[in-house]
Amino acid sequence: MSISPATSTYRNLIGGKWVDARSGRTFSSVSPANHEEVIGTFPASGPADVDAAVAAARAAFPAWSLMPAPKRGEILFKVARLLAEHKEELARLMTREMGKVLPEARGDVQEAIDVAYYMAGEGRRLFGMTVPSEMPDKFAMAIRRPIGVAGIITPWNFPIAIPAWKLFPALICGNTAVIKPASDTPACLVRFAELLSEGGIPDGVINVVTGNGSDVGHALVEHPDVRLISFTGHTETGVDITTRAAPTLKRVSLELGGKNPIVIWEDADLGLALDSVVWSAFGTSGQRCTAASRLIVHRNVHDRFVEMLRTRVAALALGDGLDDKTDVGPVINDRAVERIAGYAAIGRKEAELVIGGEPARDGALARGSFFQPTIFTEVKPDARIAQEEIFGPVTSVIPVDDWDETVRIVNSVTYGLSTSLFTRDVNLAFRSIRDFDSGLGYVNHGTIGAEAHLPFGGTKGTGNGHREVGQAALDFFTEWKSVYIDYSGKLQRAQIDTTFVDQT
Ligand code: NAP
Repeated sequence: MSISPATSTYRNLIGGKWVDARSGRTFSSVSPANHEEVIGTFPASGPADVDAAVAAARAAFPAWSLMPAPKRGEILFKVARLLAEHKEELARLMTREMGKVLPEARGDVQEAIDVAYYMAGEGRRLFGMTVPSEMPDKFAMAIRRPIGVAGIITPWNFPIAIPAWKLFPALICGNTAVIKPASDTPACLVRFAELLSEGGIPDGVINVVTGNGSDVGHALVEHPDVRLISFTGHTETGVDITTRAAPTLKRVSLELGGKNPIVIWEDADLGLALDSVVWSAFGTSGQRCTAASRLIVHRNVHDRFVEMLRTRVAALALGDGLDDKTDVGPVINDRAVERIAGYAAIGRKEAELVIGGEPARDGALARGSFFQPTIFTEVKPDARIAQEEIFGPVTSVIPVDDWDETVRIVNSVTYGLSTSLFTRDVNLAFRSIRDFDSGLGYVNHGTIGAEAHLPFGGTKGTGNGHREVGQAALDFFTEWKSVYIDYSGKLQRAQIDTTFVDQT
């Protein structure tokens, strides 16, 4: 296998070879902290490149799927170790290309390492089930089978963790894959794929095709030889993908947007809540699907908490994520700045601005895409800034007076990813877990912080019911086969020749 050269020219990985787009066209990725810094040029691929990648993944499928799963697991163990050795290099590349501050980029890479180790261990489990048969001398079990070529389409906000969430379960289950990274962060994925190849993933088992959603994404989703699509991104993109995948009856897993609330009750530890809100609302510049974009605060502590938050946010330093003095990095690009500014303008009409609300262009910030951390208060639960995903450093405070109203507001959005409650009341804590409609629930912890071995995903408009990571991910990437072995030597008819007596 030839590795992509260590220059800033990156290539597609198809069948173990690094190749240009058939068209020869390219595009560039630039740093959101400094638009003059070009991270690299990448193939602007199209359907012909997708065809070649899918053919390579299909050709690699028989050998990979027949390799004993523990052996596949051994390769993933090696990959995990290699990722750990390259953690700092990957994190720095991520901060340059995507903008998140370095400690968060390290966390992103660590997530990939954790999932690699977890899924490597699954190589010795991949549990099926055995059940007693209703017949004598008959054996009944269900086994997991690999499905085929997985198409994987990823966003830019977790440029290594999310590909890992999808690739490692796909691979341990015996599938092969074609992956299309977001056009804002292709370098992270190409470097990640290089390490996977170096770690021993055989040629053709993973293939990378860079290029935009219309040229590469559509071709992958519509390809007849792709059996499943795992996608993370915007809700509208997820709907489009579902529609395009329908004629070929693909299995589709969607991880979509969020409008995640932190509820701060009157008895909460406000210092702890403050730390958690700052981390959940402004970490990754608010560009996490689990970002806390709604703060539902009990009226009795509202004024005090908002003042504490305003003071803390005023002290946050914006800048390049490689600078260890930076608290909040850039947003992904200037289109994002414009979108967030549009919501800030809407917010000014709908609510009271506490702080922020403008693009940040002082000094060196003018070279990149920055937006001031922004807080609105007295936000009505049905206001647009309280309902729509802004995906930037903007959070809306909604004052509340009682618990039933709080539950209604928490559940009033179309999304259902992550919810959080700060309280010292154990009864309310358990009620929140029961009554808040979301796939992730936290008590005395912000809305972010999922771990690799529990299911990740959301309810309602956040997805279509599948879950990533943990054991739950295996259900998406395998097909169940129920197996019956009759060793009685005679015809035994299920439901008819049963031996027990009906007592009713
Ligand atoms: P996006 O615009 O939907 O793009 C995601 C990926 O899909 C990119 O690779 C994109 O390619 C590709 N794509 C775009 N249109 C496509 C189409 N019609 N067919 C096939 N592929 C297409 O989302 P994003 O801006 O990258 O990510 C932000 C969103 O992701 C937010 O809504 C966030 O909440 C969500 N998210 C959800 C989770 C979760 O687990 N629930 C986690 C992280 C992020 P290009 O880059 O070339 O356009």
